[in-house]
Amino acid sequence: MRVGIAGCAGRMGQMLLKLLITAPGVLVVGGTERRGSHVLGRDLGALVGGEPLGIIIGENPEPLFEQADVVVDFTSPAATASHATLAAKTGTAHVIGTTGLDNDQMGAISRAAQRVPIVLAANMSLGVNLIEQVVEEVSRILDTDWDIEVVEMHHRHKVDAPSGTALALGEAAAKGRGVQLRRVSRRGRDGQVGPRVKGEIGFSAIRGGDVVGDHTVIFAADGERIEVTHKASSREIFGRGAVKAVLWAAGKRPGLYSMKDVLGFNLGSAAQPGGA
Ligand code: NAD
Repeated sequence: MRVGIAGCAGRMGQMLLKLLITAPGVLVVGGTERRGSHVLGRDLGALVGGEPLGIIIGENPEPLFEQADVVVDFTSPAATASHATLAAKTGTAHVIGTTGLDNDQMGAISRAAQRVPIVLAANMSLGVNLIEQVVEEVSRILDTDWDIEVVEMHHRHKVDAPSGTALALGEAAAKGRGVQLRRVSRRGRDGQVGPRVKGEIGFSAIRGGDVVGDHTVIFAADGERIEVTHKASSREIFGRGAVKAVLWAAGKRPGLYSMKDVLGFNLGSAAQPGGA
């Protein structure tokens, strides 16, 4: 399988490069970086301290998508949306880990997914995808006497807030409750905000140090509290998930897929609304 890496010099890009170079059945065929990056023109293998691969890092994504069966993409929202359009043009499967996508960018990805398989996940770790399902089920069972708050902490370099994973957990909670997140979402609180509105799903983001990613969904009622927590201590969990997604995506029918499709679990089918 011929695999390309968009954003190959990024934190995730470099990790994926290392994992994919040694993955059985995978041939890394190229890597791109943004215009002006100091790694342009360098050898892809040398970028991660390995043997030279004879592949030069370029800025033009078109040859990358033309050569690859699958392109894995942890870049920026704007780059990812244009990459998805390109994937549809070249017939290339696209695995997207980029977060912070706006509605227009999501629209471009959905349109591209009518032509090619796209795996899109704000968090590629098994653990987070599992707790998303747990949060959905818990939210289905508990009524609005239980306040739902999502708290996340990430390293000081993270540029978007709340994290894509926090929003995905909020979406899971909203789905379980049978409401639309955009109608009940409360992003941060500051000043004279008044009492909490019943049914809100709140978000708080903390930034600092080198924290890979901590997420807690708090269900708080009078007299008791449930907390569902995931803590990532290594970025490798995202890399391993992304490699699974790459291997899974090649040759799939066009469509927009999630990590739940890749990992093949779906707790939701076990519990019906009101059934617990
Ligand atoms: P990073 O800033 O280290 O890496 C992003 C890389 O993309 C940079 O090297 C940048 O130069 C490059 N880039 C930007 N525009 C480009 C373009 N047009 N063409 C090619 N390369 C381009 O960031 P990171 O920590 O690796 O995270 C990248 C994204 O992935 C963020 O949105 C982050 O939130 C997300 N992320 C997702 C998961 C997940 O599991 N889905 C895990 C970690 C990070």
